[in-house]
Amino acid sequence: MPDSPFLIAGAGIGGLTSALALARIGQPSIIVEQRTRIDDIGAGIQLSPNVSRILIELGFGPALAKAAAEPKQLLIRSGKSGKILGGMALGDAMRNQYGAPYLTIHRADLQTILLDAVRGSDAIRLAFGRTVAAIDDNSQMSVTIRCDSQSASENVTGKALIGADGLWSNVARLIGDPSKPEFRKHIAWRGLVARKDWPADLPTNETRLWLGPGAHLVHYPIRRGEFINLVAVTSDIDNAPGWSRAGEPSMIQKRFARWHPDAVRAIHAVSEWTIWSLFDRAPRKAWSDNRVVLLGDAVHPVLPFLAQGAALAIEDAYVLSTELSKKPDDPSAAFTAYADIRKPRTSKVQAAARRNGDIYHMRWPLSMGRDFTMSRMTFADHYSWIYDWRYV
Ligand SMILES: Cc1cc2nc3c(=O)[nH]c(=O)nc-3n(C[C@H](O)[C@H](O)[C@H](O)COP(=O)(O)OP(=O)(O)OC[C@H]3O[C@@H](n4cnc5c(N)ncnc54)[C@H](O)[C@@H]3O)c2cc1C
Repeated sequence: MPDSPFLIAGAGIGGLTSALALARIGQPSIIVEQRTRIDDIGAGIQLSPNVSRILIELGFGPALAKAAAEPKQLLIRSGKSGKILGGMALGDAMRNQYGAPYLTIHRADLQTILLDAVRGSDAIRLAFGRTVAAIDDNSQMSVTIRCDSQSASENVTGKALIGADGLWSNVARLIGDPSKPEFRKHIAWRGLVARKDWPADLPTNETRLWLGPGAHLVHYPIRRGEFINLVAVTSDIDNAPGWSRAGEPSMIQKRFARWHPDAVRAIHAVSEWTIWSLFDRAPRKAWSDNRVVLLGDAVHPVLPFLAQGAALAIEDAYVLSTELSKKPDDPSAAFTAYADIRKPRTSKVQAAARRNGDIYHMRWPLSMGRDFTMSRMTFADHYSWIYDWRYV
């Protein structure tokens, strides 16, 4: 008799990777996704060596090589004066130091790579347009979820449930944690520029980070350099909790008007912006309950100031499948082991990301101390605890 499938709530980066990692250890799964299709808005994502290593191990090296860019360096500059504050070599230097590349990719391209693999796997079923609305976890051998669609409700039974349902996780609520994420008073503006519309003298193969009072700007290439991705973050108050919405270009142009001319020109090159309010939460105490476990943003959302949210979700999926391969008949024990392994790292990254937000946005005179420290830092070593992460 074939194995009973794992149920996965959410076809985000964490849910898709979980299904693929489970298929690799011979475990079938059903992914239940509330959206009717996946149409990611234009935004980039950085894949540091800790996560590119996992994706390569899962067989995505060739697909990433076709779709991603590999910037040659990170350069940090003062948003006001343009002075170089620090940086680190990426490209071959990352491959040599960490055995895996530092890549930058369009989110939609990463989702497509994962989705194609999911669709090509006999072990994975993907059900769109269904929300995980209730859980019955009272059996010793299985868990049953109620999936609601526009027209009907159906019950689906599986071996266990992985809640990869993001920041506003319903699975977390259903297993008894009603706490909500907290708005961190940062707003992220994201936009893309086709290379032909990008000022010719601005870098196309570099990640550039501009730091200024109450705001920062980062830009890097994606899609092998065909586009430049920009993220501008401001510490202005806006309490709208939605996931994303359109941003008015003149507002962000005004906000950065007195920055270095290169930063101003980068901002002006974008014609369409999408805005995110940024949230995280204190680490959840319970990551699992019997045959239900949480993963990714559902359990440890991170602010984007270290570019590690999706990376942590992928690391989670990898560790979870490894623990399940050791205890295939005892998911609840595997879930406890997974949580014990992941809690220290994810809370450390969460805290470091939050701290980076404060550091990036420092105002004078504190910014003078920051700039002095940065000018003496070796960033590749400073972040080696993130990039050198491995789990065997
Ligand atoms: C401005 C910004 C920049 C970022 N840059 C980076 C970066 O460079 N590098 C990086 O690693 N990370 C980055 N991140 C973080 C990253 O985007 C997230 O951490 C990551 O997408 C989390 O993945 P996830 O699968 O856990 O959740 P999600 O991507 O949120 O996926 C959850 C899925 O579950 C579905 N769902 C929700 N509820 C239900 C339900 N009840 N039933 C069924 N389905 C449901 C949702 O529709 C969604 O598809 C950034 C984030 C922001 C905001």
